Amino acid sequence: MTKRDFSHVRRIVIKAGTNILSSKDGINMERVRSIVDQIAKAKEKGYQVLLVSSGAVGLGAKALHHTTPVAYIAMRQACAAIGNPVLMNAYSHEFERHNMLCGQVLITRFDLNNRTSYNNLRQSVSMLLALGVVPIFNENDVVSTAMVRNQFGDNDTMSALIASKIDADLLILLTDIDGIYTGNPKKDSNAVLLPEINELTPEIFSYAKGAGSTFSTGGMKTKLLAAQIAQKGGCGTVIASGYEDDIIERILSGDQAGTYILPAERLSQRQRWILNTQYEGAIVVDDGAKEALLSHKSLLPSGVKAVKGVFSAGEVVAVMDKDGNVFAKAVPYFDSTELEILQGHKSYEIETLIGGGKKDVIFRPEDLAFICQ
Ligand code: GLU
Repeated sequence: MTKRDFSHVRRIVIKAGTNILSSKDGINMERVRSIVDQIAKAKEKGYQVLLVSSGAVGLGAKALHHTTPVAYIAMRQACAAIGNPVLMNAYSHEFERHNMLCGQVLITRFDLNNRTSYNNLRQSVSMLLALGVVPIFNENDVVSTAMVRNQFGDNDTMSALIASKIDADLLILLTDIDGIYTGNPKKDSNAVLLPEINELTPEIFSYAKGAGSTFSTGGMKTKLLAAQIAQKGGCGTVIASGYEDDIIERILSGDQAGTYILPAERLSQRQRWILNTQYEGAIVVDDGAKEALLSHKSLLPSGVKAVKGVFSAGEVVAVMDKDGNVFAKAVPYFDSTELEILQGHKSYEIETLIGGGKKDVIFRPEDLAFICQ
């Protein structure tokens, strides 16, 4: 069988899911040990490894003797607070056997969305990597909730955003199924494993239905969505079984293990940041302006039809056509109040309308990233 070419791979993000890490009554120490052993081996070979580990909520829930999903937000937060130290304790114990250190990095969506906090995070992660420490990420479920809009929701999405933002070469999602099948292999005996996916088409998404298990939030669909984020960031993804003790080594050696979703052409750092940041408001543009943007031209005030929401200059906003389709995200030079004044006007009127010292376009092509529909 032909080998995958991973010769370019140096920096890897590995995500371990709740299912493979938890046992009936708590943490599956054998699994933690196996993952740590494999990471230690990869590091000896010169790979930089970042681990994203789920399991905190599940472990906290088990410590509190919950047997059903934790739906109540405050209870989920409490479970995460209880479970995270248990999880980290298990990892540090196993890394100690290899004379290695790991460090905990708890983040919310804000930390990646905001450029200042993102740069701050990048700095601390670079330092951990330079020290040879394995950063172990988890969502900071104690403070992140959908209500305050700082939630990733699942660690599949979070690991892909991390992989994309820190320029990882490969994302490995370790789960309880050995890849993407054309149906549910547990129910459909005709379902076949897809070794490689080039394009994440609606048909591929139709193979992956349903959410995760009792305490995890992801499922096959979130894994494909994660792979899509990584793909746009120029990072390939392998979805594989976390139950195999040499899976990471096999993947890195190019074995046809699991499903490999190929990377797309790498976008610029700035465009990836734009693409992976939640938008604050929207700029509605007319058809002419949409066409101009698609041919890599700047947005002029005359092409702005409406402004939605409140945002500051330099924040990421949605770019919408007149039918309400968001086809891109962009970072305008003007805030929403200024844009409301400028909409429909000519560039030469900018100074008269809102004062001098301003740019003559709303944003340039490099401030825009298209959303694949
Ligand atoms: N952050 C959650 C935890 O540690 C897991 C989310 C997920 O399953 O993706 O328990």
